[in-house]
This record gives sequence, structure tokens and C-alpha cells, in this order.
Amino acid sequence: AKNSGRNTFQIFKPGMNTLIEKRRALEVDLDAGIAKGEFELFLQPRVDVVSAEVTSYEALLRWHHPDRGIVSPVDFIPVAEASGKIIALGEWVIREACRMLSLEENVRRLSINVSAIQFRHTDFRRRLDEIVRRAGVETKRLELEITESVLIDDDKRALKILNELKTSGYAIALDDFGTGYSSLSYLSRYPFDTIKIDRGFVANLGEEASAEAIVHSIIDLGGRLGMTVVAEGVETLEQAQFLARSGCDELQGYLLGRPQPLDKIALTVPAEVVA
Ligand code: C2E
Ligand code: CA
Ligand code: CA
Ligand code: CA
Repeated sequence: AKNSGRNTFQIFKPGMNTLIEKRRALEVDLDAGIAKGEFELFLQPRVDVVSAEVTSYEALLRWHHPDRGIVSPVDFIPVAEASGKIIALGEWVIREACRMLSLEENVRRLSINVSAIQFRHTDFRRRLDEIVRRAGVETKRLELEITESVLIDDDKRALKILNELKTSGYAIALDDFGTGYSSLSYLSRYPFDTIKIDRGFVANLGEEASAEAIVHSIIDLGGRLGMTVVAEGVETLEQAQFLARSGCDELQGYLLGRPQPLDKIALTVPAEVVA
């Protein structure tokens, strides 16, 4: 017992320090990173199953850290959320998306990820409108991807804000659908234009029988509610074909295109990929 206790102590403590130090270091670097232009939005196409046209690009944040190289949003978004820096970072994302939209008229629409903390911030809608108006970008060219965590805490307020955003012309997408809590009741109560099937379900197609049933049900339900259903994380032709046969509206994933900088994206996707 003595031995294992000591081992645990030795293994545990340095690990803890590293994690905490790493997070703190990232937090300190975040502000400077925004100021120094270390962030970039990569774009990933979302493709219409029938027309094979790109309906939107999802903007995915990348951080070119001077010492660490490219840092994944999976690592820095939680740090930005915990420290409140997600507000400044989120506003940068909106500004940058608007800049791209005004620069590139061939890009029909951009879908940006909005953190629950950013969404719930008192100034969110005002700041969003201000940035978009200043950029002279039509609101319908922006889609806001939110997750169910936005809806859990403050139902009524979230509903009010979503309705206002919708009235202003923004498109609203529910991201990671199927991973949250009472998904079914949310769907009809909130003004979503789009639901995105979480890529966990897509990955399990052909692996787990339940995944097919779940994906079928989501597509059916979304369709009945008049929403556009998007599958994310589509990597194989088999997945794409299953989704197309099931009536899924749009596909997103490495099969259709990886996230890339604006100047590298091809503005059309070969039709045979979808057909
Ligand atoms: P998400 O919104 O669910 O984004 C989809 C993630 O799946 C992205 O990871 C994307 O690169 C990845 N992906 C796309 N196609 C495939 C595929 O075929 N296979 C696999 N395995 N993965 C695929 P990424 O870019 O690392 O972003 C991770 C998460 O970080 C996002 O998940 C989102 O929650 C968050 N995030 C990214 N950018 C932003 C941002 O600007 N603001 C906020 N608040 N969160 C962001
Ligand atoms: Ca997303
Ligand atoms: Ca997602
Ligand atoms: Ca996801």
C-alpha cells in the first residue's frame, strides 16, 4: 500500500501541475494571441445531397501558437470559456466571418459556432448586430450554431433571444444533435432552421444497428418539422449513400472536404462524390 501510494503521488502530482500550468499558460496567451493575429478560421463545406452545391461553410477556429504550433479548439475553447475570454474570441470569430463574407461573394453563407457562455452574455445580440451591420453583411449569410447547453439553464431567455435573432434574419442551427438531454421537446419549441446530427452517430453507421435507427429518426423528425438536416463527420461513401437514401438534406465531413483556409477552398465540390 505504501508503495502504490507513493507511486500514485509521484505520477499524479507532476501530471496535475502540467495540466494546470498548461491551461494557465494558454489563458495568458489567449489575449495576446487575438491581438497578434494568431487565430484563423478554417472553412469546411456543407454540401446539398441533391444539387451537390455548397450551401454553407462551417467556420472552425484554429490557433497558430508561436511555441505550440496549431492548438486545437478542443484544447483552448474550454480554457477561453472558463476564463471569460471566449467573449473576445467569439467576437473576433464574428468579425472575421463577416470580413470573409464581404470579401468573397461566392461564399453563400458561413456557419459559426457560438459558445453557450457567449450566447448567454447580456451583450451578445447587440454586439453581433453591430459587427454585422458595420461589415455591411446580410444577416441571412450567417448561421449561428448553438448546442443544447444553451437551452438548459435559461429556457425563456434563450427562446426570446433565438426568436429575435431569427427575426433579424440569421439562420440558427442546433449542433451535435442527439448528444444532449431532452432533444425532442427542444426541437419543436425553438426556431431552428437546421439540425446537425452529431458525428458520433454517423461514425457508428454500419457498426451499430442502433445508429441507423437513430439517424433515420432524426432525419424523419427534422424533415417533418421543416428543418434542414445535416450529417457531420461523413468520411466514407457508404455513410454518404446511407444518409442520402435516408433523406438527409446536407452532408459535411472529410469525404466532402476538410476544413481549410479561405484561399485554399474549392468553391464547388465534385458532383460524383454525392451522387
Ligand atoms: P463541432 O462544432 O462539432 O465541429 C465539428 C468538428 O468535427 C471539427 O473539429 C471538424 O474539424 C471535425 N470534423 C469535420 N469533418 C470531420 C470528419 O469527417 N471526421 C472527423 N473525425 N472529424 C471531422 P474541430 O475543428 O477540431 O473543432 C472542434 C470543436 O471545437 C467544434 O466541434 C466546436 O465545438 C469547437 N469550435 C471550433 N471552432 C469554434 C469557434 O469558432 N467557436 C466556438 N465557440 N467553438 C468552436
Ligand atoms: Ca459546429
Ligand atoms: Ca457538431
Ligand atoms: Ca461534435
